Amino acid sequence: MTPPAAAPAPGALAAAIVAHYRRVRRELPWRATRDPYAIWVSEVMLQQTRVATVIPYWERWMARFPDVRALAAAPLDDVLAAWAGLGYYSRARNLHRGAQRVAEGGGALPGDAAGLRAVPGIGPYTAGAIASIAYGERAPLVDGNVARVLARIFAVEHDVKSSIGQRTLWQLAGTLMDALPRDAAPGDLNQGLMELGATVCTPRAPACIGCPAASACAAHRDDRTDALPTMPARRRADELPVLAQIALWVARGDEVLLARRRPDGLYGGLWELPAGATLAAARRALGAGAAATPGEPLFTEEQQLTHRRVRVDVVAARVAARARLVAPGDPGYDALAWHRTADAVGGTLGVSSLTAAILRRLTDENAPWSSTPRPSPSSPRATRRSSTASPRSATTSTTTTSARPRRARRRGSTSSSTTTAR
Ligand code: SF4
Repeated sequence: MTPPAAAPAPGALAAAIVAHYRRVRRELPWRATRDPYAIWVSEVMLQQTRVATVIPYWERWMARFPDVRALAAAPLDDVLAAWAGLGYYSRARNLHRGAQRVAEGGGALPGDAAGLRAVPGIGPYTAGAIASIAYGERAPLVDGNVARVLARIFAVEHDVKSSIGQRTLWQLAGTLMDALPRDAAPGDLNQGLMELGATVCTPRAPACIGCPAASACAAHRDDRTDALPTMPARRRADELPVLAQIALWVARGDEVLLARRRPDGLYGGLWELPAGATLAAARRALGAGAAATPGEPLFTEEQQLTHRRVRVDVVAARVAARARLVAPGDPGYDALAWHRTADAVGGTLGVSSLTAAILRRLTDENAPWSSTPRPSPSSPRATRRSSTASPRSATTSTTTTSARPRRARRRGSTSSSTTTAR
């Protein structure tokens, strides 16, 4: 780390950031409360997701699960359904698990950052946010926005995601917090740093003119805002391991047969087309009661996650009209059921953005396979109309669709859907 020629005085810097925050802060619903549970929910939702996207989700969530006990008592299916469209469902599962642990202990969240860190799913960042905002504790925090701000002001040269980079940033955040004037609120410093990173010290073209930290900032002084922070090299998409799956599309009127992933692991607790590494494994996923007769492959859907790519070949299949559903035959699933396709793509059922993209594609009336005979001819138009009801997902993953070329096409038959980052 190269110190700036005149190292910023932490007390003055912290005071300037707090004063700026009080002047320009956005009025957000979770900023009108000191309820630690409400702040916890907001902080978890805000990870990886834009503020504008989070607001309606947070409001609906607080109406549906107004306190820790209500959340703890809710079935995981309901929790994931309330989260549908926000992406990164592990956040919802962890929130639910954490609420259950807190409820077991009486329902009150621990009263300081150290106690909060002992709750499953609450890490140092979330603990710092809850403790400083709800309790006024001098607990620092570092998230992506704060890391960028501190790395630029103090010229932190380390990779901000490395352990030494993280250690350095947390020390700097702690130094600022310790130096905060006694009459200033610790929550305002933390929120001020986050707000600065979100609205002024942005990744590209930061608005240094007018920034409260400009006179103390090494990156601004040395014209190095493009060089800082130092980020780890990204792996190219073609370097990522591929998880290849075959998924069975079994439709019945406006319903589709879905299997639910067990709670832990990738897509845990979410509903999806029954799938497996091979066609035989995908058929096994349906269980003995609903053995499928697979038809022709329809298209391939891909999703790029942070550490891998998932590629799903979608195959149309039929089950006997009177098939009785029993437990799925794949240990990765814990339930099998018919669901309205509109619920799956419309945000009232917990499905991944990948599954939502697949179902939207399947129900696109312009797709070449829309003429594929269904096991039941009833209500086909209702199924197709449902494809327009899906919300935008907020995940950073990317999904793409490629149609199989071998079938005759009615119109342009390839499409791609891209979900957006915050
Ligand atoms: S002066 Fe510029 S680079 Fe430095 S903290 Fe402010 S916005 Fe970021």
